[in-house]
Amino acid sequence: MERRRFVKSLLAAGLIAPRVQAQSAPDWGGPVLDTHLHLRKDADSCLTHMQGCGVTNAILLTPATDQDRARQEMERRPGRFARSVRTDPTMAGADQVLRDALKGGAVSIGEMKFNVALDSAEMRRVYDIAAEMQVPVMMHIQTFPHFPAEKPYNTGYPQFDKILRAYPKTMFIGHGDLFWAHISADVPTDRGYPAGPIKPGGLTDKWLAEFPNLYADMSANSGNNALSRDTALTRQFITRHQRKLLFGSDCSCTDGNGSGVSQNRNPEAARLAGKCVARETLGLLKQLASPEIFRKVVWENGTQLFKPGFS
Ligand SMILES: [Zn+2]
Ligand SMILES: [Zn+2]
Repeated sequence: MERRRFVKSLLAAGLIAPRVQAQSAPDWGGPVLDTHLHLRKDADSCLTHMQGCGVTNAILLTPATDQDRARQEMERRPGRFARSVRTDPTMAGADQVLRDALKGGAVSIGEMKFNVALDSAEMRRVYDIAAEMQVPVMMHIQTFPHFPAEKPYNTGYPQFDKILRAYPKTMFIGHGDLFWAHISADVPTDRGYPAGPIKPGGLTDKWLAEFPNLYADMSANSGNNALSRDTALTRQFITRHQRKLLFGSDCSCTDGNGSGVSQNRNPEAARLAGKCVARETLGLLKQLASPEIFRKVVWENGTQLFKPGFS
C-alpha cells in the first residue's frame, strides 16, 4: 500500500508518466453516429479518433472551403461519413456558397459559430436555405467567453422561441454553453458551465417539448456537463426528449482515448482534460438511458435527421 501511495503521489506531481496500457475500443452494442466531428487537418485522423472510442460513423463538420477534402475522405472510407457545410453568413455570397455545397452533397449546415444574433437578417437567410434544402442547421450558442476578448456567438437565445415559431420548416439543432445552461431555469451569467442541481423549467427543456423543429446536440463539455450535473433529473430529461437528442463528441483528442487536447485548452472545461469526450458522454448515456433510448440517441435520431445515406 505504501508503495502504491508513493507511486500515486509521483503520478499526481507529474514526476513519472503513467504506464501506457493498450486499451481496447469500447463496444457500445451497435453502430454509433458522431454528429459533431470536425474535419481535421489530417482527414484520416478522424477515423483514428472514431476507432479509439468505438464510434462507427460521423458527420464531418466542414467549412465550405474544405468540401473537397471531406469528399476525398468519404470516398476513401465508403459508408463511414457524411459532411456538413459552414460559411460566415455575413460574407457576400454566403447564400450561394451554402446552396452549392448542399447541392454538391453536404447533408447539413453547421457548425454555425459566428458573432451574430440568432434573429439577425444573416441567420434568417440561413434558416430559409435550411428549410428550402431540407437539411438541419446547427448553431453554437455561447455568450460567456472562454478566453479574454472572445465575442458571443448566436446571441438572443432567451427569445429563440420566436424563431422556432417563425420557421416551422427549419430543423434547428442547438449546441453550446448557453443552450445547455438553459437545461435549468436558473442560469448564472458569470460562467459558461453551471454545476449543481437543475431547477426544472429551463428554456431548452421547455422548447424541446414544445417545438418539433428543435433538436439538441449533446457534444462537448457543454453537453456532457449539463447531462452529468444532476443525474436524477437528466435521466427524465433524456427519456422525455429521446427523439430529439443527438450524440456528438466535438472532441479533439487524438486517439479516442483522451490523448492530446480534448477541449481546446478551454480553462473552464478542465473537468474533461485528458479524457475523450466521446467516451465520457457515451458512458454517461449508457448509464442514464435504457438500451432502446441509447440506440435512438446514438444512431436512429441522427440518421433520420441527417439522412447521411449509410447502408
Ligand atoms: Zn461548438
Ligand atoms: Zn476524443
